[in-house]
Amino acid sequence: MDRSDDRAPVYVIGGGPAGLATAAALRRRGVRALVLEKSDAVGASWRGHYERLRLHTTRRLSALPGLAMPRRFGRWVARDDVVRYLEKYAAYHELDVVTGVEAHRVEPAGPDGSGPGWLVHASGGRLLTGRTVVVATGFNHTPFLPDWPGRDGWTGELLHACAYREPTAYKGRDVLVVGVGNTGAEIAVDLADGGAAHVRLAVRTPPHIVRRSTAGWPAQRTGILTRRLPAPLVDRAAGTLARFAVPDLAPYGLPRPDQGLYTRFREGAVPVQDVGLIDAVRSGRVRPVAPVASFDGGIVTLADGSRIAPDAVILATGYRRGLEGLVGHLGVLDSRGRPVVRGARSPARAPGLYFNGYTNPISGMLREIALDAEKIARVVSRRGRQHRNGTGSGG
Ligand SMILES: Cc1cc2nc3c(=O)[nH]c(=O)nc-3n(C[C@H](O)[C@H](O)[C@H](O)COP(=O)(O)OP(=O)(O)OC[C@H]3O[C@@H](n4cnc5c(N)ncnc54)[C@H](O)[C@@H]3O)c2cc1C
Repeated sequence: MDRSDDRAPVYVIGGGPAGLATAAALRRRGVRALVLEKSDAVGASWRGHYERLRLHTTRRLSALPGLAMPRRFGRWVARDDVVRYLEKYAAYHELDVVTGVEAHRVEPAGPDGSGPGWLVHASGGRLLTGRTVVVATGFNHTPFLPDWPGRDGWTGELLHACAYREPTAYKGRDVLVVGVGNTGAEIAVDLADGGAAHVRLAVRTPPHIVRRSTAGWPAQRTGILTRRLPAPLVDRAAGTLARFAVPDLAPYGLPRPDQGLYTRFREGAVPVQDVGLIDAVRSGRVRPVAPVASFDGGIVTLADGSRIAPDAVILATGYRRGLEGLVGHLGVLDSRGRPVVRGARSPARAPGLYFNGYTNPISGMLREIALDAEKIARVVSRRGRQHRNGTGSGG
């Protein structure tokens, strides 16, 4: 039986909500956890988000294990308060967080690399060994920029939504926002409210738009109640509700989607929660346009053949997981680059390796992260006990 790394902590890679929640849940079970965070503080993603952002999920259903969010944050918690909460969370649970340390690669430990346990290669030449590693580097890890023809020769301003903060610099300017997920919709409204002269929103597939809450009932609760129901049933109910709750925006260039809400969600298209898009589109302050086809100097050609010359293009085109370099060689990712397991399960060929934060359920990601943190902590502490008693499988 291997006892070589009994004293090693569980290494948790990433100091965002998923990493912190998992470390806290482990600590509460008496398991030492060390969080490795590549930036200089916890909650780096939330520090970088645009200023107007608020949680779309409710305060209560977004809290992490063992610490509620204060009531004064309100129902829809502002970005700054999310950051404050994460700082408080790490302090309250007395988490060991090492900042400025990036994990580059996780490999099986042992002299011939056959385990048991894991070797984490981290910045500064650090080599960290332990029986258990939790990967929590974020679903929205690497900004994705589609490779349109001519993009590199574009002469105007071009940035990914992750670099957008607030609208002052766009006052009086002509801006094209590409992508109508929650981020694109919200940035378009922010620009229009902030005095941009023209705001166009390039739409490839019209989104489902839902009210954040209806008569006090949050959309997230509906997501929780319906997530295990058959997609056609949820699609029908959501379609009926949308006809009452959301006006027809087809005359403004944003028709209702052909496919049902839940069917599309399962394919990765998150419904857009209305925080101003409907009004902005109806008042003409945000104009939906065809998707981008190509760039040519200072001109953007759209898929319907029209040519426009915005001053700036903001790409709300999503993120990739970016896990290939860290764990891709272990055969633990699917064809989309997502871990093949979640929660309490380790991949069969990688015992002791866990993942938190790589699913995007309709019930809310933070809620799911909190649940998975508890599941991971439960199984890791049980395995630790079995290992110490000599009754475990060595995994
Ligand atoms: C704009 C936006 C709004 C969202 N709103 C909501 C919402 O309202 N409700 C909801 O439930 N969910 C929401 N989400 C989804 C999700 O809850 C958040 O993205 C959340 O921050 C995910 O937490 P995480 O810890 O998995 O990832 P992140 O918060 O991204 O944290 C990952 C951390 O890992 C660090 N890191 C990355 N790679 C390494 C490495 N190799 N070594 C060391 N450290 C590393 C990063 O610096 C970062 O601090 C939103 C997401 C976005 C992008």
